[in-house]
Amino acid sequence: MASEKPSIERIPGYCALCVSRCGSIAVVENGRFVGLEPDPSHPTGQALCAKGRAAPELVYHADRLLYPLQRTRPKGDPDPGWRRITWDEALDLTATRLRQLAQAYGPESVAFSVASPSTSASVDSTLWIERLMRAFGSPNLSMSMELCGWGRYLATVYTYGASVPGAYMPDLEHAGCILFWGYNPNVARLSHATATMAALKRGARLIVVDPRRAGLAGRADVWLQVRPGADAALALALAHVMIERGWYDRDFIREWTNGPLLVRADNGRLLTEYDLSAEGSAQRYVAWNEAKRGPVLYDPSLGRYAGGSSDLALFGVFTVDAPQGKLVCRPAFDHLAEACRRYSPEAAAAICSVEPGQIEHAAQLLWEARPVAYYAWSGVEQQTNATQIARAIAQLYALTGSFDTKGGNVLFAAAPTANVAAVTAPAPLAPALGLADRPLGPSRWQHVTSDEIYRAILEQQPYAVRGLVGFGANLLVAHADGRRGREALAALDFYVHADLFMNPTAELADIVLPVASAFEREALKIGFEVSAAAQALVQLRRPVVAPRGEARSDTAIVFDLACRLGLGSEFWEGDVDAAYRYQLGPSDVSLETLREQPGGVRAPVQTRYRKFAGQRDGAPQGFATPTHKVELYSETLLAHGYSPLPEHVEPLVSPQARPDIAEHYPLILTCAKHTLFCESQHRGLPSLRRHALDPEVELHPLAASERGIRAGDWVRIETSQGSVQARARLNDALAPNVVCGQHGWWQSCPEIGAPGYDPFSRDGANLNLIIGNEAIDPISGSVPHRAYLCQIRRMGPDV
Ligand code: SF4
Repeated sequence: MASEKPSIERIPGYCALCVSRCGSIAVVENGRFVGLEPDPSHPTGQALCAKGRAAPELVYHADRLLYPLQRTRPKGDPDPGWRRITWDEALDLTATRLRQLAQAYGPESVAFSVASPSTSASVDSTLWIERLMRAFGSPNLSMSMELCGWGRYLATVYTYGASVPGAYMPDLEHAGCILFWGYNPNVARLSHATATMAALKRGARLIVVDPRRAGLAGRADVWLQVRPGADAALALALAHVMIERGWYDRDFIREWTNGPLLVRADNGRLLTEYDLSAEGSAQRYVAWNEAKRGPVLYDPSLGRYAGGSSDLALFGVFTVDAPQGKLVCRPAFDHLAEACRRYSPEAAAAICSVEPGQIEHAAQLLWEARPVAYYAWSGVEQQTNATQIARAIAQLYALTGSFDTKGGNVLFAAAPTANVAAVTAPAPLAPALGLADRPLGPSRWQHVTSDEIYRAILEQQPYAVRGLVGFGANLLVAHADGRRGREALAALDFYVHADLFMNPTAELADIVLPVASAFEREALKIGFEVSAAAQALVQLRRPVVAPRGEARSDTAIVFDLACRLGLGSEFWEGDVDAAYRYQLGPSDVSLETLREQPGGVRAPVQTRYRKFAGQRDGAPQGFATPTHKVELYSETLLAHGYSPLPEHVEPLVSPQARPDIAEHYPLILTCAKHTLFCESQHRGLPSLRRHALDPEVELHPLAASERGIRAGDWVRIETSQGSVQARARLNDALAPNVVCGQHGWWQSCPEIGAPGYDPFSRDGANLNLIIGNEAIDPISGSVPHRAYLCQIRRMGPDV
């Protein structure tokens, strides 16, 4: 008998497992999801990585959570005694406990956590989770902003008044020069890697700054092997060369940055009209006009200098008459140039380990091959000086004059939509945790650090957190100081966690909810970010197969829970379609059209450049900063006691800063994403784990031979916080004093006999267990996962 032809369906969509959101075609055979293929017709669909191709394994994995579970035994008991319960029981109990906490201690006593959208599919639901948090009345969201996103989204707000390069993305299609800093798109965003390869083919130049020769570094015109955490010194040195040689866009600096504004020598403040006359305005600033040889006023509300900007001085010392006598001032740009002058290529080389000739070469390339498009990632964000690094790179970028120009960093046009992260009837929220300690940090935007949550639980400072609503965030493995984290989560009055798999963090929950994978649910994506064509695309991703067991999408969980909390009016009484319609309202794209066209709809939008120069109410749009200019000199930072200019601050846990620690732990410990796994996920998938059986640490052959270590040996990575184990991999492209570990190891893969690792034990391999939270960026709270101190020893009976 002839066998029946299989029924094969090919469903267009995109892989949502990481920020790349690669356009894809899901292959479904006889109702079973069997493969994921790239969809080259999609603007992010040139290729898929191994994780995307392993999607069916993820969906059908034997360890998937399939039913809501309730803990029946105390936390700390090796057996949580999980009991299967119904969704009604799980969500009613959750709503009751959350309401009780809010009534007794205020809604701020409940924190929310979400896996980073950069390395998970949480983006499908993030806006709705944020809406739930705000509707509930909590200001506390842990989304790993201090580790992944601060530099590219929020730190540069103090320079550009906008997220650069997070929202103003590199226009790789038209760039003359591409600068990747602490960013390996091969691993972090495949769609950027494929676009970069296309750009290189047409002749674009590439500069990569990375302690490792990873990914596209091998294809770069210049690879700058920076010492981990010394990136600001390198950025200042590049800026120094550019300023000294005149390689900067004077018109942009004069007209669009606050470089011409005069800074008072006596107090470091920008000179204002009020300083010159009691009748003057403290909101109008003063620059020096060289043609007139006198001060001129700049009014931010008009965006104009009296007499225009062409004759404004960028350098010099000027004396102006004030009621109290003469005031000595210099333009902000002169201060910046002076700050950069301290980092000549030779001086910087001694700090950041990059050869002076390479610094000169890279600076020249940045100028001659512009427009420059840049992207930076967590390599420069997981640092104790993360904010200053972001500021230093941002001011370097301003010199190129490429901001929001074709081929530079551009805010690509997207379909206009309603902001659903904001609630319709917002109630006043309590200050977020951490706001008092770091008023300019992530808490300003209601992003709190894991350490702030742990402190609020264990020490009730600045107030008590007693409840946690978790969506996929594996805090105890993804963040530092997991033992303290475990103690904190165990001390919560109530913890509900939604996830695909049980993990070391979820194990401490009271209720665990099974989540549908990205391939089992619908999701709306407005803009795919990486190019004008990608950002104009609106797509409603279809489910490829039905959810397994009783799993539900995070979005469905949010809507249902919201209704049970009495917040149904903010959630369309649980009707997700109605919510999507509201979100799409301003776009002219209907939900019905999106359902009919699963490959997505191109919104009729046009990307414009140099939007800052466009007119609004008779004045240039400018920048969303206090001076309406790019703030090379930030009075906001100054007012909070920080340097108004970008500066290099030695990493707090480095051989230079802590010789006492370095005496015992002489190697600089950095880490990098694994190509095969998204952070702490995916190690249970046989097709991936087969190619990476064990946790590894890379070290230079010299460092290895000094320690009697050979390739493949099991070694102990020791820091002042403890030790974990890994296998040695030799890498002669690393600096001899730098080692590179891998984080996220805990999961086993029994199908191929690959073990799991206790994430809280020295016999485990959880790299973040040996990173402390004691030395952090004073502005953002960022933690030094990329620049710490360690020792490596070959494992033997005593080690
Ligand atoms: S890079 Fe890989 S995991 Fe990320 S979206 Fe693309 S295919 Fe999925």
